[in-house]
Amino acid sequence: MAYEPKSGTVETSIALRLEDIPEATRARFWAKTCANDNGCVEWTGAVNSRGYGSVGWGPRGQNKSYLAHRVSFVLAGGILEPSLTIDHICRNRLCVNAAHLEQVTGKENIQRAARLITHCKHGHPLSGENLRLSSRGKRVCRTCAADRSAEWSAASRESRRARGLMKSGRVARQFTDEELAEMHKFVSLGVSKARIASDFKISFKRLTKLLSANDNAEAKP
Ligand SMILES: [Zn+2]
Ligand SMILES: [Zn+2]
Repeated sequence: MAYEPKSGTVETSIALRLEDIPEATRARFWAKTCANDNGCVEWTGAVNSRGYGSVGWGPRGQNKSYLAHRVSFVLAGGILEPSLTIDHICRNRLCVNAAHLEQVTGKENIQRAARLITHCKHGHPLSGENLRLSSRGKRVCRTCAADRSAEWSAASRESRRARGLMKSGRVARQFTDEELAEMHKFVSLGVSKARIASDFKISFKRLTKLLSANDNAEAKP
């Protein structure tokens, strides 16, 4: 179904006229469409990589492809202005219903598409308090942005903790019973506390604290 002719090029800016569309193409055009419930007439023929219907004609090897909705616009009596683009009022790229097509400037088309997106992809409204404009003029969902930043700081805290970079007083690196037992073993073997502290990448003070805490724990009945 999604066949795109290899030799053809999709012409979007060309001023396609009604007389340029061969009789054979006109005759089979509507056979490659299917009307759906919301009034869209969807193209069932070839689809280009951007999701638009594509239709081609011309001699083998020199055939050209055109966007199906542009062909439909012309078939319905519309005159394509090279400087304008065809806007899908229904936002359905496959739709070739001329009643759903309108010729607008490219800028207008983009603005319309943006206006129609009323919610972020997580369903939060892109309006009122929840809407923020980025420095580049992009609409940002405050809820999602806050979630992302919370996730980021949690991940960053977690990774700093894992690397043992957390300053004492905040979240200190935790040691397993095995690691604590190892510290004690080194002490009993006569390794200096300074050396052990450096091996475990902790301060002398912290090591002393860990060793005595562990002693206390072991001393409990
Ligand atoms: Zn439509
Ligand atoms: Zn959101």
